[in-house]
Amino acid sequence: MFDVIIIGSGPSGAHCAKHLGQQKQLEVAVIDARDFNVQDRSHKACGGLLSSHAQKALRQEGIIIPDDIKVEPQLNKVNTSDFSNHLHRFYPRSYINMDRRKFENWLISLIPKNVTLLYSTQVLTIKKTQQGFRLEMIHNKQKSMLECKILIGADGADSIVSRTLFTQRQHAQRYVCMQEHYLTSEVQTSYYGIFDESITDYYSWALQKDKTIIIGSALCIDKQVHQNFDTFKTKLKQNTNLQLHELKSTEGAIVLRPRSIKELNYHCGQAALIGEASGTISPTSAEGFSYAFRSARYLSESLLRYGATEKALKVYDLKCMKLRFSIALKLMKLPFMYQPWLRKWVMLSKITSVK
Ligand SMILES: Cc1cc2nc3c(=O)[nH]c(=O)nc-3n(C[C@H](O)[C@H](O)[C@H](O)COP(=O)(O)OP(=O)(O)OC[C@H]3O[C@@H](n4cnc5c(N)ncnc54)[C@H](O)[C@@H]3O)c2cc1C
Repeated sequence: MFDVIIIGSGPSGAHCAKHLGQQKQLEVAVIDARDFNVQDRSHKACGGLLSSHAQKALRQEGIIIPDDIKVEPQLNKVNTSDFSNHLHRFYPRSYINMDRRKFENWLISLIPKNVTLLYSTQVLTIKKTQQGFRLEMIHNKQKSMLECKILIGADGADSIVSRTLFTQRQHAQRYVCMQEHYLTSEVQTSYYGIFDESITDYYSWALQKDKTIIIGSALCIDKQVHQNFDTFKTKLKQNTNLQLHELKSTEGAIVLRPRSIKELNYHCGQAALIGEASGTISPTSAEGFSYAFRSARYLSESLLRYGATEKALKVYDLKCMKLRFSIALKLMKLPFMYQPWLRKWVMLSKITSVK
């Protein structure tokens, strides 16, 4: 039996495993359905932008981001385009533009060797036992079982841990993100954040990575999804000078958007949630990396201090007050970005915008 099993080896799971493995006091395993080797084509659809908050979270732990995960151009401002009100403004931001696949592989390379990594392995079911949990998994068409005392759900927006063990809780709203990659010969140094209520009540984006322009939109999950994405592309062509010629690939992923801090779930019995599985992601921008790193650090600190016990998870839940507070502040900012008349007022006022 493992002391701790982490389901998910994305940013939150890998970061938590790194910390837990360093101390060698707990037996830890990480399971992920993905393979993460160089040939593995499966990757998560993502903007791949490391915000200043995420950079700070890593800096505070003394972690230096390697240059080889960065891609050009580096983006220093957001071109906020309000198609509904026919306005646009530039806002300064210091993102690191990254290759998400290389970023994830780098995080995994930091996990110490004493942590057991079970990749290409999908968790199918989770059963509560007297001592903890029994997981049924599948790898190379072979089913097997594993047991643990503490179960960590780092398994993202569609978390099986959250769906199975946090059934009595409220959950964040789900959106589907669609992205398309186009070849380009131009250089766009701003990141487009696009607001248009006829497309979505969330937002859409466009950004460059090397010779590719990525366009995407977070859309309400209903029958209009494809139609709304087509409307987005038409409006993007009408309102920007982005050249969308040769389509390289398309991809999609679910993203969560909390509407209240009651939808943030961190602990239930001997199970804990970190990263997006906990619902902790910015409801204004879908920035999730900073919360993935912070929640992973809080949980690993608690487990290392109190061992593989429920008390550790209770302490983790308390530490997450800081995350709840951060999301609460973003929820207060929400109307100024997503109520068209308030957004118009903010943009016309030119507060914090630059040329
Ligand atoms: C289109 C899009 C663009 C985004 N852009 C940005 C951005 O630019 N900047 C930013 O900060 N955030 C961005 N986000 C949000 C960010 O991707 C997430 O918040 C972040 O990845 C959360 O990390 P995580 O480790 O919690 O979960 P994830 O990265 O989702 O990792 C979960 C892992 O769990 C595994 N898993 C899931 N279920 C199982 C199972 N049953 N068995 C085994 N393994 C399982 C998955 O394979 C995956 O590897 C974006 C999200 C989307 C959808």
